[in-house]
Amino acid sequence: MTDPAKISPVTLAKLAKLGIHHRADLLLHLPLRYEDETHLAPIATVQAGETVQVQGVIAHSEVAFRPRRTLVCRMEDSGGELYLRFLNFYPSQQKQLAVGRRIRAVGEVRMGYYGPEMVHPKCRAVDDDTPLQQSLTPVYPTTSGLAQPLLRKLIVNALETLPLTDTLPGALLKKLRLADFADSLRLLHNPAPDISASTLEDRSHAAWRRIKFDELLAQQLSMRVHHRERGKRIAPALAAHGKLTARLIKNLPFALTSAQQRTFAEISRDLAQPHPMQRLLLGDVGSGKTIVAALAALQAIENGYQVALMAPTEILAEQHYLKLSDWLEPLGIAPVWLSGSLKKKDKQLAAEKIASGETLLAIGTHALFQSSVEFHKLGLAIVDEQHKFGVQQRLELRNKGTEPHQLMMSATPIPRTLAMSYYADLDVSVIDELPPGRTPVVTKLVSDARRDEVFERVRASCMAGQQAYWVCPLIAESEAQLRHVTGEASRSREQLLGPSSRTHRLRRTVSEGLQLQTALETYQLLTETFPELRVGLAHGKLSSAEKAQVMAAFKAGELQLLVATTVIEVGVDVPNASLMVIDHAERMGLAQLHQLRGRVGRGAAESMCVLLYQQPLSELARARLKIIYENTDGFVIAQQDLHLRGPGELLGARQSGVAMLRFADISADEDLLEQARQAADELLRDFPDAARAHLQRWMASKHDYLHV
Ligand code: ADP
Ligand code: MG
Repeated sequence: MTDPAKISPVTLAKLAKLGIHHRADLLLHLPLRYEDETHLAPIATVQAGETVQVQGVIAHSEVAFRPRRTLVCRMEDSGGELYLRFLNFYPSQQKQLAVGRRIRAVGEVRMGYYGPEMVHPKCRAVDDDTPLQQSLTPVYPTTSGLAQPLLRKLIVNALETLPLTDTLPGALLKKLRLADFADSLRLLHNPAPDISASTLEDRSHAAWRRIKFDELLAQQLSMRVHHRERGKRIAPALAAHGKLTARLIKNLPFALTSAQQRTFAEISRDLAQPHPMQRLLLGDVGSGKTIVAALAALQAIENGYQVALMAPTEILAEQHYLKLSDWLEPLGIAPVWLSGSLKKKDKQLAAEKIASGETLLAIGTHALFQSSVEFHKLGLAIVDEQHKFGVQQRLELRNKGTEPHQLMMSATPIPRTLAMSYYADLDVSVIDELPPGRTPVVTKLVSDARRDEVFERVRASCMAGQQAYWVCPLIAESEAQLRHVTGEASRSREQLLGPSSRTHRLRRTVSEGLQLQTALETYQLLTETFPELRVGLAHGKLSSAEKAQVMAAFKAGELQLLVATTVIEVGVDVPNASLMVIDHAERMGLAQLHQLRGRVGRGAAESMCVLLYQQPLSELARARLKIIYENTDGFVIAQQDLHLRGPGELLGARQSGVAMLRFADISADEDLLEQARQAADELLRDFPDAARAHLQRWMASKHDYLHV
């Protein structure tokens, strides 16, 4: 049969496109769906929407020209007739479908003007006694130029010739009631005759469960292995002397919450180890992560090591700079500021201070991690709002010089399953408590038709001495919304491949331009509406000095109303601001709404968040607004978001990382994920060979190339 040595280079290249680099990868290339060619449907019984196989004689065949050149054939069986339509066709096809021919056609039925029809069915000429297929025909994910029959042939060959040894110990299979690996593969690739397509397309079938479990197990194992390898690498041991940290705690105007104490203790213990920490500090908006980061920084500084604190936006980085200067200067530590927008000379100056070791704490944007910045003795890197950076940055950080400890912080609360799945190589600390004295934010949904009432509320609130944000609408969301409408198929494709970086960049540029324009227009409108108020404007295109000036003025109460784009989404902290209006809230995602709302409710005053929306609402927008209206707990919101959108979009850049799953769906397969997690520990402890074999089977293609 197919000799793999004879696969043409062209075919090899196509296979590689599908992620198939080894013959063994063919085994795990599983069908998307199945076609049922095991029986014939009488034409009189077919229903619109069904995919069926019919057989009959061509009674009429013609090429019509309206609306486009189309081959139209009428097929008859003993009880009915059906039309076959082809928009692009070869002369050979036309010949095959000549009047009088007996044809077997497979396709989806739809109701046309003249009755049932199929568009571009799969056809073949048959005799009266041509046998039917014995079992379902699998349909595989493929790429253009690689036909199903060839792919099927290669897979069947792999199935027949490669060992299908079960990588898992029998006892584990029995305990988890998992199906046999070889049986599962054979069933999915080569279904037995008595199985229906709907049975196999149900992903909760035992065979699929086995495959999904294996995939999740491989993911967990791989992350666990990474985690272990980290334990062998060397980092400076930064012991907790408590000299500086204790002084900072004593100087604070508040007492740490017990969650802050616990998470700092976890971090402190890690820092004292001679191996690099990689810890994620998760805590809802306003839970007080910054002070924990400051304490971690001091522990490194106490040991004579440098610390870098990086934030994703200038506004946020600047705010950290101000806050940490405030906290640390009394202890004799002056942070240095470094961002991309600094003048070249100043940047150089900052870089020199970092390189000489004169500076112990550097705060800034990702400019901090450009190759021109060399740290003298970096002991700890802190990344705030980690989810705003990509996987790439995470790796770059890791590879920089001698290995520093790493603390990542995120206010995007991640559902537990997601954290387990995607961050299994990190250690996680959770701040699960808000500082005391907060009054919950009241959320109101207000239709755009009542905009005037909202204006009045803003006016009244500001006149009463409070401050307010007005968040400008997002613009280029139409792109994103378009993706929602185009449905599952293209969405999961995007999840797999991601939009091309060029369209991505283009889209971003357009979106930024429009964003700015809307911000300016909104600002103009609101200044005119509120002549009695001092109104400021913050957007992404301001220089960092301008931005800092606006933020400082707002913080000092000189500005009463701040018109802002979503640049304020992350981290901005002005406790006296107690009202937020989010314009066109229906265009924003759940995580974003939650982040934005978190900007208010930081002080003692009763706070309110008004979500202004425009009718009519799409179903998705309605669902989002309902969730944000009914919930304040970020973890609950994230969990709902996961169900609404799927994990790919929730995780953003992270999706393209090692953790990509092909079969399992962590929102639907939570139980399997939990089992896989436990099994991973068990295998690594008791069956290291099995763990190795399992990783080899599932991960080999991620590392090297064909020819095994
Ligand atoms: P986030 O976790 O969103 O980054 P921040 O670190 O910005 O939160 O903290 C939010 C606000 O709460 C800040 O004004 C901070 O000073 C204050 N804060 C932090 N911890 C406490 C505490 N234990 N008690 C009272 N206020 C606190
Ligand atoms: Mg923060």
